[in-house]
Amino acid sequence: MTMISADPIPFAIGDILVLKKPHPCGSKEWRVLKLGADLRLVCLGCGRHIMLPRAEAERRLKKLIKETNQE
Ligand SMILES: [Zn+2]
Repeated sequence: MTMISADPIPFAIGDILVLKKPHPCGSKEWRVLKLGADLRLVCLGCGRHIMLPRAEAERRLKKLIKETNQE
């Protein structure tokens, strides 16, 4: 059975998203703070918070790092 890439990505709070395009600060990594229709993300480079629509996050996502044990 093959998985189609259009499947929803199982984002979870605490996960690190690596996006294709870097933030102006140079970091491509964001931590998930809150889930919903929009994801609340904090930039790991400069600490800035953004709201990103889930579909947009999935489009821009390069890599998802599960950080379930980290606080
Ligand atoms: Zn930044």
